[in-house]
Amino acid sequence: MQTEDFRSAAHEIVDWIADYLENPRDLPVLPDMQPGDLVSRLPGSAPEQGEPMGRILEDFHKLIVPAVTHWNHPRFMAYFPSSASPPGVLGEMLSAALNTNAIVWKSSPANTELEMVTMGWLRQWLGLPEEFFGIIYDTASVGTMHAIAAAREMADPEARNKGATRGLTLYASQQAHSSVEKGAIAVGVGRENVRKIPADAEFRMRVDALVEAIETDRKAGLKPFCVVATVGTTSSTSVDPVAEIVQVAEKYGLWCHVDAAYAGAAAILPECRWILQGAERAHSLVVNPHKWLLTPADLSAFFTRRPDILRRAFTLVPEYLRTSQDGKATNFMDYSIAMGRRFRSLKLWFVMRSYGKEGVAEILRRHIGMGQRIAAAVDADQRFERVSPTPFSVVCFRYKGSDEENRALLDRVNATGKTFLSHTELNGRFVIRFAIGNVGTTQQDVDEIWSLIQQLAP
Ligand code: PLP
Repeated sequence: MQTEDFRSAAHEIVDWIADYLENPRDLPVLPDMQPGDLVSRLPGSAPEQGEPMGRILEDFHKLIVPAVTHWNHPRFMAYFPSSASPPGVLGEMLSAALNTNAIVWKSSPANTELEMVTMGWLRQWLGLPEEFFGIIYDTASVGTMHAIAAAREMADPEARNKGATRGLTLYASQQAHSSVEKGAIAVGVGRENVRKIPADAEFRMRVDALVEAIETDRKAGLKPFCVVATVGTTSSTSVDPVAEIVQVAEKYGLWCHVDAAYAGAAAILPECRWILQGAERAHSLVVNPHKWLLTPADLSAFFTRRPDILRRAFTLVPEYLRTSQDGKATNFMDYSIAMGRRFRSLKLWFVMRSYGKEGVAEILRRHIGMGQRIAAAVDADQRFERVSPTPFSVVCFRYKGSDEENRALLDRVNATGKTFLSHTELNGRFVIRFAIGNVGTTQQDVDEIWSLIQQLAP
C-alpha cells in the first residue's frame, strides 16, 4: 500500500470512527441476523489478487457493520458493558501501528516500562499497597488462571516439573465466574477439585461454609491450596467478604486471589473503597480496565504480592531470548504463559491521562447513580421485583410471573433493536440484568429503556 493511499484511507476511517463514537444511537444495538448469515455473504476463499481499499471499506460498511453487536452503544445493557473511549481508541491505533512485542525488556523497553508505570498508577487508584507487582494480561480469565498456577506453585513446587499432583483443592463461591473452574482445568487441578461454596441471601460467599469445606478436605487427606473471592460477581455484582476470606486463607496457608474483574474499578471512588478492604493482604487480584475503566478490549490488570512465586511458576528462558539486561530489567514473559505481548499499556496510559482520576470517578459515579435510579423504579412498580441488592450499576430484576414470561419479555425488548439486555439465574429463577456502564449512556437512555420494559411487560 502506498503511503498516500494509506493516508487517505486512514483519514476516511478516522472520520467514520469519530462519527461512530459520537453517535452510534442510529444503529440497532443487536444485529438482525441468523447464524451463518455473514459467512454466506462472504467469499469462501481469499482473493488471489489484492483488492483496492475502497472496495474493502465498502464491504466493511455494507456487510460487517450490520453484523456487529454494538458493545459501544450507549444502550448496550447486557453482560458488563464496556467503553472504547476516544482516548483509548487513539492509544489502540498507535499500538497497532508500532506493533511492538514486549517479550523481554530489550524487545521494546517502552512496552515494559510503560506497563510498569500504568500498573503502578492503577495500583494507586485502587488503593493497593506498593508491594503489589502489576502485569497486563488479555483477560481476567487468563489472570485468574495465572493466579491458580501461582497458587499451585506455592503449594506444590514440584508440579512444575512433574505435573500436577492429585488432591489439590480450590475454593470459590457458587457465584464465582466460570473462569475459576476453567483455570483449574487448565493447570491440572480438575473441576472435581473446585469446591463451590454456598452463598448467603445476598449472594456473598459464606465464610463459615468455606471453613467447613476446607476442614472436611483436610480431614480427607486433601490439600486445600487456593481460594478465590469475588468482588462484583457476574450475576448480581455481590461482593464477597474479602477480609474474612483472606483471614481464612492465612490460617490454612492458601493462596487468596480476588476476582474484581468488573467491580474493582469502583474502588477508585472513596465511597466504594470498602469493596477491596482486605485485598491488600490477598496474594493476587485481577481487575479489567476493559470492563468498567473506559479502555477498549482487551486489557486486564493483574496484581500480585508474590511476583516471585508467579515468576517461579512460569519462567523458562530459551537461549535466543537471553539479554545482557537480564537481572536488571523486568522481562514480563517470565510472569506469563504468553511470550509475545501487545503494547496494551499504551491505551490505558491514554485513558488515565486523558480522564484523570476525577474524570473516571465522575463517570463511574454517574453510572452508579443511574443504576440506583433504575433500582428504585423497579421497586416502585408492583409488577416487578428486584432479586438482589444493587451495590453498583447492575440491576437484577424480574417480572412477577413465570420464567417463560420473563424470557419472552427479554426477547421482546431486545427484538426492538433499541437496547440489548441479558439474563442470568439467581435462586433457580430467570432474572433480567439491566447493566449500565458505557461512557455515553445518559439518564434519558436508561429512563427510556425502563419505559420500554414497562410497556412490553405482559
Ligand atoms: N470474572 C468476573 C467476575 C466476570 O464477570 C468475568 C466476565 O464477565 C470474568 C471474570 C471474565 O472476564 P474476561 O472476559 O476478561 O476473561
